[in-house]
Amino acid sequence: MKPSGMKPRVLTVLGATGTIGVNTLDVVARHPGRFEIFALTGATQVERMVEQCRTHRPRIAVMNEPAAAAALRLRLAEAKLPVTVLEGESALTDVATAPEVDTVMAAIVGAAGLPATLAAAQAGKRILLANKETLVVSGQLFMDAIATSGAELLPIDSEHNAIFQALPRDFDGDFKRAGVRALWLTASGGPFRTLSAEAIAAATPAQAVAHPNWVMGKKISVDSASLMNKGLEVIEARWLFNARPEQIKVVVHPQSIVHSMVEYADGSVIAQMGTPDMRTPIAFALGFPERIDAGVSALELMGRQLTFEAPDTARFPCLQLAFDALAAGGSAAAVLNAANEVAVARFLEGEVPFNAIAASIAHTLDALAGGAASSLEDLLEADRQARSVATAYLEGARA
Ligand code: NDP
Ligand code: MG
Repeated sequence: MKPSGMKPRVLTVLGATGTIGVNTLDVVARHPGRFEIFALTGATQVERMVEQCRTHRPRIAVMNEPAAAAALRLRLAEAKLPVTVLEGESALTDVATAPEVDTVMAAIVGAAGLPATLAAAQAGKRILLANKETLVVSGQLFMDAIATSGAELLPIDSEHNAIFQALPRDFDGDFKRAGVRALWLTASGGPFRTLSAEAIAAATPAQAVAHPNWVMGKKISVDSASLMNKGLEVIEARWLFNARPEQIKVVVHPQSIVHSMVEYADGSVIAQMGTPDMRTPIAFALGFPERIDAGVSALELMGRQLTFEAPDTARFPCLQLAFDALAAGGSAAAVLNAANEVAVARFLEGEVPFNAIAASIAHTLDALAGGAASSLEDLLEADRQARSVATAYLEGARA
């Protein structure tokens, strides 16, 4: 329950119909009166949006696709629900920056989430950031916007949320002053952790999206199978915590109980642990600085074994590609991200084999080395070029 007299937080949930969006609304529903929903956004899932409107009574619902928006208007009229329906990318930005809104959950998948998330940063909102691709594509620009506007940034990605929890509360990006030696990102290793390179090359989309520990959207599930998810998270950590690449370590921890760790100068390693359930980091960020109920079952440690192993970049080259893009700087991370999005979509369509993902990213990074990244236009141009180079490459790699 909300403490009496407290004003509710007014929320826009970008990507409400996705996995993170659904988990966010689940936590919100556990705290009547504490949160008010201003807007929910989705792209294609009309029926789910109707249900969310019925339960959460937002003022505005946005469907990216005009046809979906038209269908939603009809369904909401039938259901006599007084919700304004908007469509298109500019509507996403409008609901992310509306003056009524103080908190934005950024949970659209991919670079498609960038314009609205960046606009929320420029508008000084409290941003709960799930959409890691925003930081991968526009890290410097995004962090500058946060600093200039005074926006507040709380990480939702479980690893970064864990690191945020394990760092001193007043951490300002100065590793030396805080006595921080390294950030340790844990990786489950994904569904292909124990498979041979040959078996991984022949993996099907159904195998790739069957994650052992987490239920997630399809794109991030494939990223977890290729370890590109960890690569994107390395880049995300670089920007969120002002870390140098060599200060970011990756360790495979198949049980997904330790969500990540901070190593200090005195040898202490502080970890955050919990049942693998995204409602924990979501509730942490929604309630911050208070701790609120997330509906998550207690961590059962009796009889559990926690194991740790080194990642294998020979079988999982995407992780190394992400470190390479980070070292290259400029627009390389935006290129990496766009090439990955194109390849993952093609793989999910059954058009290219799993190992074409890493191959097409490596090819695209080579082809587009050295691009500038000083403006949003630079980054969007790098994104467009990378999509075109990767698409052409994948034409030649059809299954
Ligand atoms: P989903 O695919 O489940 O959901 C994506 C959401 O974005 C949906 O609401 C979808 O709408 C919407 N969407 C898709 N394409 C567009 C577009 N072009 N324009 C506007 N909206 C769009 O993804 P997840 O919830 O799994 O992930 C969301 C983000 O959170 C990703 O960046 C992911 O990396 C990150 N994340 C997710 C975690 C997880 O456990 N799921 C963990 C950590 C980070 P619709 O469904 O209506 O088509
Ligand atoms: Mg993660």
